[in-house]
Amino acid sequence: MNLTVTGTVGIDTVFTPDGEHREGILGGSSIYFAAAASFFSPVGIVAAVGDDFPDEFRGQIAHFGAIDTAGLETRAGSKTFRWGGKYLADMDHRETLFTELNVVIEEPPSVPAAYANCPVVFLANMHPGVQHRLAGQFTKRRLMVADTMDLWINTARAELEVMLGEVDGLVLNYDEAEQFTGHRNTVTAGKHLLEFGLRFVVIKKGEHGAILVHRDGLAALPAFPSERVVDPTGAGDSFAGGMMGSIAAALARGGKGAEDPGSFESLRRAMAHGTVVASFTIEQFSLGRLRQLTKQELEVRSHQYMHMLRLE
Ligand code: AMP
Repeated sequence: MNLTVTGTVGIDTVFTPDGEHREGILGGSSIYFAAAASFFSPVGIVAAVGDDFPDEFRGQIAHFGAIDTAGLETRAGSKTFRWGGKYLADMDHRETLFTELNVVIEEPPSVPAAYANCPVVFLANMHPGVQHRLAGQFTKRRLMVADTMDLWINTARAELEVMLGEVDGLVLNYDEAEQFTGHRNTVTAGKHLLEFGLRFVVIKKGEHGAILVHRDGLAALPAFPSERVVDPTGAGDSFAGGMMGSIAAALARGGKGAEDPGSFESLRRAMAHGTVVASFTIEQFSLGRLRQLTKQELEVRSHQYMHMLRLE
């Protein structure tokens, strides 16, 4: 396996400002990540669900042929992670209505033997104590990156700080970077986070793009300007999926960035892929848009995006 993601697989309820809502849809940090990454590289999921996880959702995951679910554990007697959120009018900010952790705070899922040599690993949003215990099982990794969010910064900060010492990079939202560091300035917050032993931090700013604060430099990438934003859930995880998926693919084919997948240039290029695939995720609820997305559509938008970045 070239790329593995650990994180939540959940059942979401989402309210959007135009009065629309969806109850009981497929979600979870590792699900959005894997769906986005699958456009670039085979990807394995390591996560646990309860025996209430609908079979229909397994079919939705199987639709993405490049997702391997050998590490998706179904635990008898446990309940699946559930999350509900409501977006504010700007579609960039949201309020969490409920989080039912359930299986997420039980014993971590097992990492299949076939994934242990995986070179690129993403610890998607999850309890940092569990992220840390899973991290140690990938002994041959060349790049390991984590994500986190407000709930964990508030409730498990000490474990989060320990986990940061284990990974190469961190991806998080601007609000969370501020909450964690106390700095409103993105670059100052990023530099503060590097002090935990990280090589780089990617700070996501929703429709304003993402900033890379790397020990070897600074970069800013705009979001793809979208007119159709239906449900922003999973944008961050899909961004990370596109980013890490493209790095895993470059590594597997010995392409650009293969010699050092965590280098400044490798990440900057990969962030562009993450930006483009995330711009599709938000066009429908759940994985609706990614299920219909073709590689050709992705390529066309990537060209448009690269063209927009060019200054002549
Ligand atoms: P994003 O919009 O990229 O931040 O990710 C949204 C997904 O994260 C949803 O599908 C949720 O199921 C999942 N999620 C929400 N809260 C948490 C949490 N505290 N830990 C892990 N996953 C979460």
